[in-house]
Amino acid sequence: MKFESQVVHAGDRKRRKGLAVPSTTPINLATTYFYESAAILDRVLGHEEDGFSYGRYSNPTNVALEELCTELEHGRGSLATASGMAAIQIALQAALLDRPHHVVASNSIYGATIGLLDQVFGPFGVEVTYVDVCNLSAVETAIAKNKPGCIFLESVSNPLLRVADLEKIGQMAKQADAALVVDNTFASPMQMRPLKLGANIVVHSATKYLAGHGDVLGGIVVSDETHAEPVRMLSRLIGPVLGPFESYLTMRGIKTLALRFERQCKNARILAEWLSSHPRIERVYYCSDPNHPDACNIKKFFAPDLFGAILSFEIRDASKQSILGFMDRLKMVVPGTSLGDVHTLLLYPLIASHRNISPKMRERMGIRENLVRVAAGIEASEDIVADLDQALRSI
Ligand SMILES: *Cc1c(COP(=O)(O)O)cnc(C)c1O
Repeated sequence: MKFESQVVHAGDRKRRKGLAVPSTTPINLATTYFYESAAILDRVLGHEEDGFSYGRYSNPTNVALEELCTELEHGRGSLATASGMAAIQIALQAALLDRPHHVVASNSIYGATIGLLDQVFGPFGVEVTYVDVCNLSAVETAIAKNKPGCIFLESVSNPLLRVADLEKIGQMAKQADAALVVDNTFASPMQMRPLKLGANIVVHSATKYLAGHGDVLGGIVVSDETHAEPVRMLSRLIGPVLGPFESYLTMRGIKTLALRFERQCKNARILAEWLSSHPRIERVYYCSDPNHPDACNIKKFFAPDLFGAILSFEIRDASKQSILGFMDRLKMVVPGTSLGDVHTLLLYPLIASHRNISPKMRERMGIRENLVRVAAGIEASEDIVADLDQALRSI
């Protein structure tokens, strides 16, 4: 099945003898299950037979979502978690379970992920080396020097949209016996499937494109054959599982993922082209740019004609104060954090995602005071353009 069909059909509608099949997955709230004979429960609890026993172990609504995500990402098993951060925590723990406690991580990852590595894993003895993952020789050196158990990166970085050579890094990780964990939130499984390129574990903040409507906080861990069981084991003991209602909403969201993402990518491309010739705009960052520093990887790894739904741009000579004014003048575009919603969102990295980074470090990362990020929604592109245009006018 193609992706557009998988999103509406996968992970659902199991046929069981004599029972009606609901065409959409019901919300199963029960935390406890029993069977016609205690012998079955005995076998289920002993992992000799598949089945449900207790909500922290598995739940039918979650299993439907997990099977759907396993198919979309071409994995071997998934775990639905209560947030993207919980997904990242479990993925890193599974990667490091029987490997050296050193992580080589991309230096342009989600702020809370840096916090998780430094403030949660650090005190437990995990060392972290940050590296520019778009510089392959720097990655090679970091691996040789630190012998990490895990390499962590985002398939598309925030907010400058860099795309590392996942295939090459996957080969390096394999050779070094390190697990490659990829946060695929920005790309969504429609644009990129890291497990097919050599990643061992893929994580998503399902809060973004998967659920897609700004009403669910959730995460997904999709693993290869080796890591599916360790992820399950950790989840049984730690219990960061998604609630069944959120699971239902996420599945409902995913049914329109292909439609939404296609429109969002189209809108982002229209915006990028319009902004490129706007006199108030100094520079636009978008993946369709033929001069993009990673154009080669984009061509190799992205689905054809999908350049992503996120773009960033610098407003000429804009100070923090004038950007805040620009945000206040937006009438339709939502000036909030997050991305992946049906409505267009505009984020100012300086006060949000990159707030806690020193000005010097921010400058080194190329994130200037006049940079804003837009996550295109599904509205008519004319309306998004008109709103940004009027808000830019008096900047
Ligand atoms: C939002 C986000 C996260 C964290 O996800 P939550 O659902 O907010 O916990 C992690 N990585 C990326 C790239 C994100 O955008």
